[in-house]
Amino acid sequence: MTLPSSTLSGGLSRRNFLRAAAASSALAGLPFVTEAHLAHAAIPKFAPSDQGIHIDANENPMGPCESARKAIAAIIPNGGRYLFDKEIGFSDLFARQQGLDPEMVVAYAGSSEPLHLTVRAFASPTRPLVVADPSYEAPIWAAQSINAPILKVPLSDPKGAATHDIPAMLAASSTPGVIYICNPNNPTGTLTPFEQIEKAIDSVPKGSVVLVDEAYIHFTDAPSCISLVKQGKNVLVLRTFSKLYGMAGIRMGFIVGSPDLLKKVQPLGGQNPLPITAVAAARASLLDPELVPTRKKVMAGLREENIAFLRSHGYAVTPSVSNCFMVNVGKPGKQVQAAMAAKEIYIGRVWPAWPDSVRITVGTQSEMAAFQNAFVQVMQTNTAGLEPPALHPRLQQTPFSHLS
Ligand code: PLP
Repeated sequence: MTLPSSTLSGGLSRRNFLRAAAASSALAGLPFVTEAHLAHAAIPKFAPSDQGIHIDANENPMGPCESARKAIAAIIPNGGRYLFDKEIGFSDLFARQQGLDPEMVVAYAGSSEPLHLTVRAFASPTRPLVVADPSYEAPIWAAQSINAPILKVPLSDPKGAATHDIPAMLAASSTPGVIYICNPNNPTGTLTPFEQIEKAIDSVPKGSVVLVDEAYIHFTDAPSCISLVKQGKNVLVLRTFSKLYGMAGIRMGFIVGSPDLLKKVQPLGGQNPLPITAVAAARASLLDPELVPTRKKVMAGLREENIAFLRSHGYAVTPSVSNCFMVNVGKPGKQVQAAMAAKEIYIGRVWPAWPDSVRITVGTQSEMAAFQNAFVQVMQTNTAGLEPPALHPRLQQTPFSHLS
């Protein structure tokens, strides 16, 4: 997968702007792109989900917690009804737990949709999207779909903390539409200090918004930017149940912000009733006080063990606090990805900014043991010339063919 060449580092020259507009006009109107599409587009062959080891899409192999599974089973007999009251009750529960007014929370079937809609609402051909590089690509595709210029700002200290370079992101445009901050960042798993994000929020000009994507925040001890929403600041926060909560396939997420900001996002989409199974499972998950601390601990143990393993073999790994990290393999990451896939171990994709690194999602103990074993073998072989990934056959026939 190659991102359109319209992406920019630093300033937005006129030439690049025109190139961006030309490249993206062909893409205008595209549906939103998610981690699932990006991960599938990057795997070297059609890999059924029940074959091999999939540590390529930042999923959670633990799946929904026990109480969520029971809640799904219990709601099934009511599946012939819309149960709108349960949907409202569920987002009100989240609002109560977070100390928010109910109208500051909107639930969606995953956070991909509000992410996409926020970019569409605030970015435009004259108001760029500002993103870190490497970071999650979905907002970039959203910006492409509306011909909004994209300003990519390298992560600061790429060999060390690999955090968002907030001063450079703020300097990238005097009229940004959206400044997207993924915290912890996908793919590096690294954390940008709260104070710096707050500074970004306090500094953006009128008409711009900071979008803080907290898809992976539950794996960390970091303070959430939801507190800044409560203070009435110019920020929208995304949350998902796809990561720690293990509900990527069941689909649930939130956007959190002031009613004024949400009013700009909501009319663009999101009125579709939510699946009642997802509402029931997400509600049960929110009510389980042990879930976050228990899973956070399990993840930390597995992640640290794997990072230590890789470092002990001489590889540089990002200081992740999340469920994924980047490992520098010292040669084209796509070759290593292809060689691992030949062993039916599907590791994450490569970001153009860091071509010698691959993203690894932390899977189960046994999955990671298989990963370690295969990785050591692959790194001892000559991977030169291995085929770059081919696009998943289904994606070739859909509007997502541009991901190849
Ligand atoms: N944001 C980030 C940073 C992600 O990595 C993902 C998925 O991987 C999402 C948002 C969207 O997840 P979902 O639509 O499953 O909630």
